[in-house]
Amino acid sequence: MNNRPFGRPYRIDAFPPSDYLTPMTIRPIISLPDPKLREVSKPLERVDDDVRRFADDMLETMYDAPGIGLAAIQVGEPLRMLVLDVSDREEPRNPRVFINPEIISRSDTPNVHEEGCLSIPDYYAEVERPAEVTVKYVDRDGKEQLVEANGLLATCLQHEIDHLNGVLFIDYLSKLKRDMVVRKFRKLARDRPPPARMVG
Ligand SMILES: [Zn+2]
Repeated sequence: MNNRPFGRPYRIDAFPPSDYLTPMTIRPIISLPDPKLREVSKPLERVDDDVRRFADDMLETMYDAPGIGLAAIQVGEPLRMLVLDVSDREEPRNPRVFINPEIISRSDTPNVHEEGCLSIPDYYAEVERPAEVTVKYVDRDGKEQLVEANGLLATCLQHEIDHLNGVLFIDYLSKLKRDMVVRKFRKLARDRPPPARMVG
């Protein structure tokens, strides 16, 4: 999820410490109309060092973008995993990793939030979702956890969990608006120069 509606600029201070000596890698984020964004991601069978290293890469990619949430499929990996940080600008960073997240209950009360998406750059729209959700997930230590989320955390979790099911926030808009966005991004992709060929 993009952070523009919430006005949080990229901070280079208080970067989450890594448990590893290997440097973290910023991965390219795929964008509309990449068909991968419509894939349904697969659950992870275990949480090991490779998964934790990938989570660190996702966090670095998210902070660099900058964004407040990122699903694995947005860097091209169809795994049920997401990272987010919805802390305020004044607060220290609070990177969180959700593996195999699952919404187990939703409130009847709706909440409307302006959303953006790192895979649909520079487009924002209001989306109505349940105001509160309870999410079951596995943390980066492989432990099962339960979180009762409201506010921005609830919005962000629902937006990112949608990505794991191939759903984008533009799917909640009218067909007219959605078609307009898709057309714009198809045209952008067409006008983009082709990637340089490797020769030799
Ligand atoms: Zn998104």
